[in-house]
Amino acid sequence: GYYMKNNFLNTVHFEQEVLVFEDYHIFKDLNSLNNYPFNSYSSTPDPWDSNFWKRHLKEQFILEKNFHGDLLYRSTKASLEKWAEYKNISINELLTTLEKNKLYEDESNQAKDDKDYWKMKSESLFNESAIFGVTPDVMKNLSKTYKLQDAPSLYTELAKIEVCDFKSLLRFSKHFGLPYGLMEDIGFDIYLNGDCIFFPFVSVPVLNKKIAIYKQDFEWFKVIQTKDLSKIRSMIPESALISIDNIDDDEAVINYAKNHLTFLLGKLDAFNVSMYVEFQNGSFVPGVWFSDLFNFAYFQIAKALSNDVEVRYCDNCDHIFEVTHKRQRFCPPLPNRKRSSCEMAFNNRLKKEKKLKGEI
Ligand SMILES: [Zn+2]
Repeated sequence: GYYMKNNFLNTVHFEQEVLVFEDYHIFKDLNSLNNYPFNSYSSTPDPWDSNFWKRHLKEQFILEKNFHGDLLYRSTKASLEKWAEYKNISINELLTTLEKNKLYEDESNQAKDDKDYWKMKSESLFNESAIFGVTPDVMKNLSKTYKLQDAPSLYTELAKIEVCDFKSLLRFSKHFGLPYGLMEDIGFDIYLNGDCIFFPFVSVPVLNKKIAIYKQDFEWFKVIQTKDLSKIRSMIPESALISIDNIDDDEAVINYAKNHLTFLLGKLDAFNVSMYVEFQNGSFVPGVWFSDLFNFAYFQIAKALSNDVEVRYCDNCDHIFEVTHKRQRFCPPLPNRKRSSCEMAFNNRLKKEKKLKGEI
């Protein structure tokens, strides 16, 4: 049977809901916000609402600390290559810019009133006004919500998003909502429960940086849980080889990976969760609140590691999922769905192939 350790991560409650819009898109220019139906319920729409979003979205990149250093040292080479491709520059140019701007970050206190730092961030190659957010059309009919406790596969689905790949971001966001962004309901005609997670807009570079770091951390989680020794060996930097007694010793290699992941997770502020206590059915239960979906995904990774869960490659999409029943071959259903979309896609493809061969 499935053995659950007596571990507080397994008993803690999380009752937050996430608000999901039906559609999201990219817009290149903050002035597009003028066309949004902010405060559509009020007879005199307030232009101040679009100005609120413009101002905060414009500053989101500049206020994001350690942007260049994080991207340089906490993401995979594959992610950086994708970013270079998106910017239409060479990987070397991208790395040089990151190194140069990281020095600025190290030498300043990254404060809002530091003029040189502000100038560097404003002029950074990575600064762009592109915004990923809800489309104006669907803004008025917010219909879907789900509870975090009903989204056990969020952390494996989040890892499917590729850096600077809007198709994969859109796919995730349509089901789970934006993973990160500015949490504010100004101009929206909705009633927000205090503990709801709701992000209508996010600065594209800031979100992509979070994705890049998450993917790197998740990659280590994946090779550890799949015990992919040859992959781990290929991921160990040469400078770290001396810290492993014998590279042919599988256990030493796995232990290196586990220590390294612990080190990576230690760099996060994602574990600074807010706790609360609730009185339910005659007893007090402890709970935690999450500030965004990365925060929740890291909680799920910590839980998966401490329970040493079994993961498997999906027969359809080739990403890993957490196994919850023995014969499972596909990623589990997305929130508010009964059936696995990977299983359905797989079966449809099989049917088409059979048709082509004239078997049906
Ligand atoms: Zn899948």
